[in-house]
Order: sequence, then structure tokens, then C-alpha cells
Amino acid sequence: MITVVRSLLDLRRHCQLWHQKGESVALVPTMGGLHLGHLSLVERAGKLCQRVCVSVFVNPAQFGQGEDYEGYPRDESADIATLTGKCDLLYLPTLEQIYPPGFSLSLGLSGHLTQELCGRTRPIHFNGVALVVTKLLLQVAPAIAIFGEKDYQQLLVIGRLVQELDLPVDIVGVPIVRESDGLALSSRNAYLSAPERLRASTLYRSLRRAADEISSGKRPISDVLARAHSWLQNGGFDPIDYIELRDAATLLPVADKLENPARLLAAARLGKARLIDNVAVIPPDVSCSMQGG
Ligand code: AMP
Repeated sequence: MITVVRSLLDLRRHCQLWHQKGESVALVPTMGGLHLGHLSLVERAGKLCQRVCVSVFVNPAQFGQGEDYEGYPRDESADIATLTGKCDLLYLPTLEQIYPPGFSLSLGLSGHLTQELCGRTRPIHFNGVALVVTKLLLQVAPAIAIFGEKDYQQLLVIGRLVQELDLPVDIVGVPIVRESDGLALSSRNAYLSAPERLRASTLYRSLRRAADEISSGKRPISDVLARAHSWLQNGGFDPIDYIELRDAATLLPVADKLENPARLLAAARLGKARLIDNVAVIPPDVSCSMQGG
């Protein structure tokens, strides 16, 4: 069983009832095309709260001109079937429930968190994400909202957003779910042709290998990043938007010495699909002592 609501009024009716009964509510925002990665978020939500609301909304505000808003994989009945028995409420808002006619608000986070990495090629993306997530958080009023580390930059942007707006919600990140060859599950993997799908795991394998090389401390970080760039190029990725090592907590660049936990992040196009992925990178000393211990 699953209850599907499409209007803010119906959503509020359910959420307010839960809030009145003192039941804790978790929100899992998605854009649909649901897969096991999304379900791992739903599962975590169910462990943390008594009630789980999943939203499916392909948010036009986070797509730039010429991006894939129109063609983004949408399959409402498959999403309903996937979630049946796994959450309490599925919110499928119409465009007007989020952006009523005449809607004029925009939210802008400035600085490296939104302007660098994916923000360089997608300059309006994170402001659009910030806007829709703020609206969903205010509409559902959950105690907890769950996001995937798959979109690591997004996770940190949202953490900063709720902090700066004093929104009373805990943001929880969930590890990336991968296919057996390492490719991170993504709705956009549907864009890959069969030969591209075979090559797509090069992204994860390059990140993994580069992360291990950086943790070993045997080569300069810049050399490792240049090698990883060429692995992606040889794998047919073009263009490679970025492959960068960043501090895991702040996403500030890591120059030549890694002292704190970091994240190696990449975005690159393979055919029609722009794939993003990231892996954790342990500083050399920590990885040595972990191996030793
Ligand atoms: P999306 O529908 O792509 O906007 O994703 C909705 C949420 O699911 C986001 O918080 C994503 O980070 C998360 N997500 C997407 N793919 C994965 C994955 N493979 N593993 C874990 N979380 C994911």
C-alpha cells in the first residue's frame, strides 16, 4: 500500500496528522526514475523516523538551457510500483504546487560550494536545487531529510542551506549504491548505449585507482589527477568537466598535501549522458595507520 498525493493541501493533511500524533517524519526528495540508490535512502529514512514521505518532482529550476529537462527519464507508474510498501506517502506535486503562477522567488548561495565543480558548467543548478529543497522542507516539515553522497556537492550545499536559513531539519547523507562493475546507479544511466554502458565503469575505476594512489602518498597529487584525466579520456569520456580533489567537509581545493579526509570528484560526458561520481580519499598517514592497525 502507498498513499499518493499531488496537491500541497493533501500533503499537509497527512503531514499535519503525523505531527499532531507526535510521529517523526523523514523526507526523501527525488526526481523519480527510481532505482536501488533511491531505495537505500528510503530504507535509511524508515530506520530514522516513524513516517517516510518520498517526493518525485523533476525540478525545472535546476536545469539550464539546453540541458535534459524535457527528456529526463519519467515513469510515474514504475515509481509508484517501486515504492509500494516501502514508504508512507508519495508526493507527486504538479508544477503549480511548487511554482504557482507568478512565482518570483529565487535563492542564491554564493561562493565555491555552488560556483565550482558542477557549478562551473551548471551555473544556475544549485540555486534551483536550493529553491526546490527549501520549498519541500517547508511543505513537509520533516525532522530529517535524506540525500545521497552520489551528489556529494549537493549534499554539502543543502547542509549549508539549512544552516543559513535556520531550518529545523537534520540532513543525513547516505553512501553511493553501485552496480557490480562500480558504476554509480543513476536515472541518467538510461541514456547510455550498450557499448557506452560497458565503458561507463571507467569513471568509478579511475576515481578508485586515483584515490588509492593519493592515499599511498607515493606520487604528487597533481600527477595522479593528470593520470586519472587521461584514463577517462582513453575511456571515451568527452568532455571531462572536472576531476578534482577537495576537502570532504568544506569542498575547498586540496593543493599538494593531503592532511584531512578528502573527496575525489568527477563529472564527464559519455555520449548523451553526463555522469558524476565521487569517492572518499583518506590522508596518507591515516591510511598507513589504518593498514597498520
Ligand atoms: P535524483 O532523483 O537523481 O535527484 O536523486 C535523488 C536522491 O537520491 C539524491 O539525494 C541523490 O543523491 C540520491 N541518489 C541518486 N543515486 C544514488 C545512488 N546511486 N546511491 C545513493 N544515493 C543516490
